[in-house]
Amino acid sequence: MRILVVEDEPQLNQLLVKQLQAAHYSVDSCLSGTDALDYLPGAEYDAIVLDIMLPGVDGIGILKHLRGKGDRTPVLLLTARDSIEDRVKGLDAGADDYLVKPFSFDELLARLRVMMRRASESVSDVFTIADLTVDCAAHTVHRGGKAITLSSREFAILEYLVRNRGRILSRDKISRHVWNYEYEGGSNVVDVYIRYLRKKLDEDFSPKLIHTIRGAGYVLREEP
Ligand code: CA
Repeated sequence: MRILVVEDEPQLNQLLVKQLQAAHYSVDSCLSGTDALDYLPGAEYDAIVLDIMLPGVDGIGILKHLRGKGDRTPVLLLTARDSIEDRVKGLDAGADDYLVKPFSFDELLARLRVMMRRASESVSDVFTIADLTVDCAAHTVHRGGKAITLSSREFAILEYLVRNRGRILSRDKISRHVWNYEYEGGSNVVDVYIRYLRKKLDEDFSPKLIHTIRGAGYVLREEP
């Protein structure tokens, strides 16, 4: 899952990036609202961590811009302790949640998980399809009761597939949610990783769960 961090305080920005990466997210970050407006059209984020007080366009401005276009990407606002008015404005402008600085990183991660659960219309971070179980909080995978070890990239792709179970996802869409801007890979990299996933998740099990839809992409679902 891919996250955009918009925070003008360089140290906090760096810390957020490091911690989110450690939590297996793919992360882009920028230091101003103007840069955020450049990042947004080229990517598909699963969540945005957005500071309210920013140079150039502020967080509320970005939020209004997004929601004005009908973009419903979950947004977590970062606000100063004494800015109740900003928080209210932010929530009214379509923010999903906010955190008051200074905040605990565990709480930030928990709130991001809540927002992503809502976005994937799920009540928990654990997804089950046939005998496959994927725990997106604990980063564990089981099939047929057997623990399966995945690399972090393999897990990232599986997480995106499982959060969108039953939906056909193009290669482009998958890569936009799994890699960040710094990544320069070939166009067939998604196919390569799907092959790895099939080997680990589908080869020795039935029914097959990862399906190729010719000319469209991939879907994770149980087929009769
Ligand atoms: Ca700020």
